[in-house]
Amino acid sequence: MVPRPADVSSELFSRDHEVGVPFFRYSHVYIEHRKELLSIIDDVCSRGAFILQNEVQEFENELATVVGTAHAVGVANCTDGLTLSLKASGITIGDEVIFSSHTFVATAAAIRNAGATPVPVECGPDHLMDADAAEAAITPRTRAIVPTQLNGRICDMDAILSIARKHDLIVVEDAAQALGASFKGKQAGSFGNAGAFSFYPAKSLGCFGDGGAITTSDQRLYEILSRARNHGRSETGYVSQWGENSRLDNLQAAILIYKLELLRDEIEKRRHFAGLYHEMLLDVEEVVLPPGPDDDSDRFDTYQNYEIEATNREALVEFLSSRRIGTSVQWGGWAVHQFEELGFKCRLPITEDLFKRMLLLPLNTSLTSNEVTYVAASLREFYAYPH
Ligand SMILES: *Cc1c(COP(=O)(O)O)cnc(C)c1O
Repeated sequence: MVPRPADVSSELFSRDHEVGVPFFRYSHVYIEHRKELLSIIDDVCSRGAFILQNEVQEFENELATVVGTAHAVGVANCTDGLTLSLKASGITIGDEVIFSSHTFVATAAAIRNAGATPVPVECGPDHLMDADAAEAAITPRTRAIVPTQLNGRICDMDAILSIARKHDLIVVEDAAQALGASFKGKQAGSFGNAGAFSFYPAKSLGCFGDGGAITTSDQRLYEILSRARNHGRSETGYVSQWGENSRLDNLQAAILIYKLELLRDEIEKRRHFAGLYHEMLLDVEEVVLPPGPDDDSDRFDTYQNYEIEATNREALVEFLSSRRIGTSVQWGGWAVHQFEELGFKCRLPITEDLFKRMLLLPLNTSLTSNEVTYVAASLREFYAYPH
């Protein structure tokens, strides 16, 4: 018998008394499905099925199906997934790897961890890697491009893949923010030699701690990766390559199997909220909005984040905070190349200018339409627009 979880106090659910809109509600990812999740946890733990058991395999199969690749490999987190993918693709010391500086430091760290030199480039008006900037950064040492599929939107992969073909480069997608997003009918994580996903709790598909996966349709890469994340061991225990310990916990995999089923609906909810922001803020000249959910027939964006550009950002943040609305500036407000202690020496004026204006509004599945409307109305109020 699965023990019945104690009833969650209704205050935790009801937001009627909760004033304002926090940027993210971490406990929501658990509390909303508490009963089902507790029974999953009890089942896995009662079987002692902790490391590389059926749930990891099952989740890998389901993820590969969703993404449209031949394989998926569960790993400990997306950062490891990127590092392992680069190493397995042969990236090594002395190589250069191009990435967009508007990303988490993890993208660059993964390149560095593979022994290579991370080369930051500019992003375009949609905040994603600028393909022309990527091509201009190619040198004889360049071996790979790592585009970040940022905010639930996919880069112009036609352009990036054609550059990669022309210059014989490997492509590893940082798809941490883009599970379920597509470009011309193809899913994030299915474009390059490999793609890496994150299941950090605040991501569209989040587990209860760290988790990640690599997707690939390259059989050879798959075989290297499935050993590399487990000390280089094959199924018999024979070790034919160096590896590390970077496994996706079986318990997290079980939780992810359950949550993956909800993903379609959750993405629709995110797109609905993005549509509301779009409708309510389109006439506000002081802000630049991300493309609306139906603006681009080539793309299906999942709105992992809703990143606007705002005039007078600091005052806006303060005003929204006085209305008890949480906002966030991605990456703490620094592009990766601005961390000079890491050895970056370049200037990227477009990215640096964007970083003075960009701001994340709350967008997640714990929100209600009323809350999104309240955020948008508060923003209109700040810029003195009627509402
Ligand atoms: C979250 C994130 C990562 C890191 O994922 P982890 O699973 O925490 O290692 C990497 N890149 C981007 C763009 C992210 O948003």
